[in-house]
Amino acid sequence: MFLTLVVIAAFCVTNALANFTSYEGYKIYEFKAENTTQQETLEILAQNDAYDFFTRPRIFGLPIRVLVAPADQLQFQQTLEAAKIAYTIVNENFGQSVEVERKLNSMYPKQRNAAPGSISFDVYQRYDVIAAYMEELAKRYSSRVKVTSIGDSYEGRQLHAITITNGDGAANKNVILMDAGIHAREWIAPAAALYVIQQLVENYKQNSRLLTSYDWIIVPLLNPDGYEYSHTHERLWRKTRKPVTIICAGTDGNRNFDIHWGKVGASHTACADTFRGQTAFSEPETQALRDLMHSLTGRAKFYLTLHSYGNYLLYPWGYTSALPKNWRDIDDIARAGAAAIKTATGTEYTVGSSTNVLYAAAGGSDDYALGKAQIPISITMELPSAGQQFDPPLSKIEELASETWIGIKAMAENVIEKYKSAIERKKPRKLRFKNVGDTQTCIYS
Ligand SMILES: [Zn+2]
Repeated sequence: MFLTLVVIAAFCVTNALANFTSYEGYKIYEFKAENTTQQETLEILAQNDAYDFFTRPRIFGLPIRVLVAPADQLQFQQTLEAAKIAYTIVNENFGQSVEVERKLNSMYPKQRNAAPGSISFDVYQRYDVIAAYMEELAKRYSSRVKVTSIGDSYEGRQLHAITITNGDGAANKNVILMDAGIHAREWIAPAAALYVIQQLVENYKQNSRLLTSYDWIIVPLLNPDGYEYSHTHERLWRKTRKPVTIICAGTDGNRNFDIHWGKVGASHTACADTFRGQTAFSEPETQALRDLMHSLTGRAKFYLTLHSYGNYLLYPWGYTSALPKNWRDIDDIARAGAAAIKTATGTEYTVGSSTNVLYAAAGGSDDYALGKAQIPISITMELPSAGQQFDPPLSKIEELASETWIGIKAMAENVIEKYKSAIERKKPRKLRFKNVGDTQTCIYS
């Protein structure tokens, strides 16, 4: 019996490994565009689906990293050399790095260093642990926390949203809406969202001011199918998991929203990483977020979507280089976040509209939040990589998450100040006394 179990276990392990994309011999190149000609060469290279551009800033001098498979490396290097773009190879064998990370993440005890009922930031947590943590919070802090499902993913996983309040029972407060993990491979983003949840719920006393006149609604893992797949099969999987053709599955959720859908920066090829989907809102995950946004019309003032990587605070529009009417308001808030992080840790973020800072890409959730769901402050936050693209080391998860929280808190404080909740506007004005001449006059403030 024991032997049978060992054989079955061994088979399962081998089978799981056999299904895992190895990335053996893949190299990561780093370079910068220093002038328009070089930038144009990069734009052409980025059209080629064989090259995985991890980041693609439009600003000269910012580092660009690209993953290239062994068979494509010679041609890639020749193209760079012809354009006089100096490059370095920052990872000679990405496969080896992925394997090390995969082993560490699966070996580490899942809840090491976590208080009972809490969650550990020592590993990148899986869907089941994340779901259990939120359920646990709803039980322990039932007066302040509610967990609901806003829909099911294609593979049938519940899409959990956690509503965090101060428990005063006041309805119709303004809302800060956050999500993470629409792009499966950006593991640090759900970790940071969980950290925000932990701070608002478990560390309530310190953060109660953020909940006085606002409720927070957070979807920490919007694309759980893709996220799980990136853990079990293909580390760099980015899309959802719904099949499109016999060969290719998945849609880029952040190209799938119905706002100038497919107009620019989104592929119509099913196998591409930026596939826009067969129709706008073809994915249950994007439909669920859309419906959540519309259910909060009038209340939601700040939509924040967490991605990685690259240290950017980006805002609409993604479909055009033109700016939204209220761009100055959004810019002020994003800059408050960037400044708070810079002061606290020295980490620098670049702030600007996504088209102007990175590249044009239509169908994004941030454009939809502002343009269609009327959420006035809409920001995409691209978290840092700790020098390892989508794989910040396990030892850095908590550090990055807490740094991100500093920026989010600063942005939230500014939004709360800017858009007063109805509950605050209705508050009876306080009486105070003012000396006018010899008499005291009672005035309102
Ligand atoms: Zn992303």
